[in-house]
Amino acid sequence: MKVGVLALQGAFGLHERVLNRLDVAAVQVRTSEELAEVDRMVIPGGESTAISKLLDANDLADPLAERLADGLPVLGTCAGLILLASEVVDGYPGQHCFGAIDATVRRNGYGRQSESFHAPIEIEGWELPFPGVFIRAPVIASAGPEVEVLAELDGVPVLCRQGSVVVSSFHPELAEDDRIHRWFVEQE
Ligand code: GLN
Repeated sequence: MKVGVLALQGAFGLHERVLNRLDVAAVQVRTSEELAEVDRMVIPGGESTAISKLLDANDLADPLAERLADGLPVLGTCAGLILLASEVVDGYPGQHCFGAIDATVRRNGYGRQSESFHAPIEIEGWELPFPGVFIRAPVIASAGPEVEVLAELDGVPVLCRQGSVVVSSFHPELAEDDRIHRWFVEQE
């Protein structure tokens, strides 16, 4: 299995590191040729507006939309969640959201950089909480009926799945805890 990490901007190197720790072949994706080679994909956190513009600059937006529509399994964290959502509130005009998961997100909904925080995340069926790192994180304001909420924080979804699309508003690659990545790559 080859897992692509969208490597235009943001925390892609840390995702690669986690995948390498799990002995999963991780490749950086910056071109449509590289995208065509992968079986799964991680869209990292960073700045969704910048990633969105770079997707256009690299002619990657349409090929990515196509692969997502074909059911490419994808893990989107923070800015990655924003790009996978069906609707973005407080985004930039024209910013891409691919609608891979039926959710509305509010950019920077948890506040600014200085309001970043850590919180233990209780994930259903997991014995120990996951250390959640929230950095200018988006709030999942609503989620459609097909979206499975795997974890909430104060009653707000923070980890969700719809089919093979997994999203988190926090940064699992910043925790010294590989469980979310392992679970993602083990999904059927
Ligand atoms: N606020 C950022 C955005 O709008 C996301 C922050 C993050 O990925 N840590 O894209």
